[in-house]
Amino acid sequence: MSQVHQIRNPWSGKIDFRFTEISTSEVQSICSRLKTHQPAWSACGLHIRLEHLCALANSLRAEQQEIVAALVEDTGRERIAHLEFELLIQTIERVVAEAPEFLPEHAPARTRVAPIQASQQWVPYGLMLNIAPWNFPLLLSLLDVFPALTMGNAVIIKPSEITPRWIAPVRKAIAAVPEMAAVLEILPGSGALGAHLMEHVDVVSFTGSVRTGRLVNEAAARLFIPAYLELGGKDPAIVLASADLEYAADTILFSAMSASGQACQSLELALIDASLFDEFVARVVKRAQQMTINHPDRAEGFVGPFIMEGQAAVVKEQLRDAVAGGARVLCGGEIIAHGGLWLEPTVLIDVQPNMKIVREETFGPVLPVLAFTTPDDAVALANASIYGLSASVFAGDIDEARSVARQLNAGAVNINDASLTSRVHDTAHESFGLSGLGRSRFGAEGYLRYARCKAIFENNSGTSVVAG
Ligand code: NDP
Repeated sequence: MSQVHQIRNPWSGKIDFRFTEISTSEVQSICSRLKTHQPAWSACGLHIRLEHLCALANSLRAEQQEIVAALVEDTGRERIAHLEFELLIQTIERVVAEAPEFLPEHAPARTRVAPIQASQQWVPYGLMLNIAPWNFPLLLSLLDVFPALTMGNAVIIKPSEITPRWIAPVRKAIAAVPEMAAVLEILPGSGALGAHLMEHVDVVSFTGSVRTGRLVNEAAARLFIPAYLELGGKDPAIVLASADLEYAADTILFSAMSASGQACQSLELALIDASLFDEFVARVVKRAQQMTINHPDRAEGFVGPFIMEGQAAVVKEQLRDAVAGGARVLCGGEIIAHGGLWLEPTVLIDVQPNMKIVREETFGPVLPVLAFTTPDDAVALANASIYGLSASVFAGDIDEARSVARQLNAGAVNINDASLTSRVHDTAHESFGLSGLGRSRFGAEGYLRYARCKAIFENNSGTSVVAG
């Protein structure tokens, strides 16, 4: 029997949306259809594919109002829903602009073995599966999809079942571009659907938790398909003694509280030179207290609700553990229930490196602040994490900042800024530790990871190199 999903609205806390999960027999026929159309998509050439991507951008623009309205219901936030849509369009524009530069259709190849001439061909895997989380449901469902399509793959998307309202208007936009609809499908459904889909595809890209990422990677190994994993983080910010304190405090707080901390690149730990500690804490607490929740007016306020109900319990447990260990909550700290669940921006001090709030991903509007005495101590504290997504260093002395940045075990380090990986999407970077696995989703690698490199060797000399 088909499974019906009842979906909770994160702002009202009410069940106000339902959808029926696709059956496994339908999965089979959808994947077959996509695979049938993929060779023609691959054969039509890069520039034609990019033209269809431009058409999709126009078509998404035509549905913008409906898509954003659905996204607001999915996430309980307005300002960021608009931003998420704009970032999606910018992503297509970026891909269209950069792909021809990254991907000469017949890449030059060299060999020193005379008289052999070598050339290379990038052969798409076939059908790519993108599995996405709920925190930026629209953008993360499509971010890795455009490079995969650009390389000539067909794509199937499995978004999170927690945020499915945006899918219908986006499917409508896709349907308006028939060439795209032939090779791109979005299937709302549960984690079980994601696991089942893996059996039918040739390559998978996954954004989500470490726990599920591990399951996906294990399944991919069994199926002998590549898996690219973009996972969680516990991004630290280091503020050195030479930093502009107010600028650092405001930037770190914005990064920690933006999207209510429900972003992989949110700063989740502030490491502050002991000489600046009191002033830093006073500044972030004052600013945090000015950040209101977006209730009763959803269009107002900086902090939205927890999108996934269960995340509030995770954050509450981390706060309990911290307070039980002697930490002091200087602002926020209590989950507020107005139907949906909110946490006002929360700043903690007297935290210890062994506390959950310092070690584990929080994914909420929480900033624990720790003092350090030397830059080496700060690096050691930052590198003690099991994660390695990104990090920030604030300093007036740029040489010192660069030296610290080079020592951090993170895939991207921002100097005198924060969360730049949410905006800078044309530079390759990979994830360290448990924050991910596989080649970068950005830069040339973000395309090439969706194709296999084939070499063609020509010998036109009449004398075999091996047989003489
Ligand atoms: P989950 O790992 O719970 O879920 C991610 C996706 O996997 C969802 O679509 C989920 O479906 C699906 N899924 C669940 N079980 C399986 C399975 N066995 N096989 C295949 N797919 C499955 O992550 P969240 O949705 O909770 O997302 C939050 C996490 O994502 C955080 O850790 C965050 O840091 C990380 N993240 C990482 C980013 C990065 O770029 N590095 C960016 C954004 C978020 P369903 O939801 O329907 O159960």
